[in-house]
Amino acid sequence: MKNFVSALKPVGKVVLDSLLPPSCLGCDAPVAADGQFCLPCFRRANFVSAPFCGSCGVPLPFAAFSGVAEICGVCEATPPAFAAARAALRYDAMAKGLILPFKYGDRTDLCRGLARLMARAGAQLLERAEVIAPVPLHVRRLRQRRYNQAALLAAELSRIAGKPVMQDALARVRETMPLGRLAAAARRAALAGTISVRRDVAGLAVLLVDDVMTSGATADACAAALRAAGARRVDVLVAARVPDPRLT
Ligand SMILES: [Zn+2]
Ligand SMILES: [Zn+2]
Repeated sequence: MKNFVSALKPVGKVVLDSLLPPSCLGCDAPVAADGQFCLPCFRRANFVSAPFCGSCGVPLPFAAFSGVAEICGVCEATPPAFAAARAALRYDAMAKGLILPFKYGDRTDLCRGLARLMARAGAQLLERAEVIAPVPLHVRRLRQRRYNQAALLAAELSRIAGKPVMQDALARVRETMPLGRLAAAARRAALAGTISVRRDVAGLAVLLVDDVMTSGATADACAAALRAAGARRVDVLVAARVPDPRLT
């Protein structure tokens, strides 16, 4: 019975949300439409804007940007398995205030607004995607949290862009310890064999979706698995990006 009630809860929330007047994504101020920021919150929001790495999307600190597609030092040294990654926000205190409640606090109502910001930041990637797939959670985590926040974002992006979503394209077959400060090669080794592809993705351009990108190692492992299964191209779209500590 408990499971039945908790399964119903998100549905009840969605219905309630549609009855309430739209409020700001970051506070309770009224706004014109769902998923918008009020003016003060908009000013506080740290959107990822150029210059950023043309490959992994990390904001680049260089003041003088030539306008040519620049690649960060990390991508230059170890090209990722994905073609391009984009993020809507920098993962600062404000972004955390949106993403942590969404991820751990049952605030699934924040999904729509986050997905809209992502659709704007990743318009090009959504345009060229043939299918959308979320970064998977290990089944044990999924039982704890009851939902995969990446899957909710993928479903919403699918609705916005009118592209199909493959919720079960990937599975996490082994749990990983937090990767913390491991170096790139060690992260790659720790993640090897943790992701399996469960659907036929041969020849497809896949857009991988997640909430936060930290080092990019998880996205890279998912992209590598998809490419090995024959995906033509893999792009990555996330709500927020942690600027790579090695770049600053
Ligand atoms: Zn606000
Ligand atoms: Zn890069």
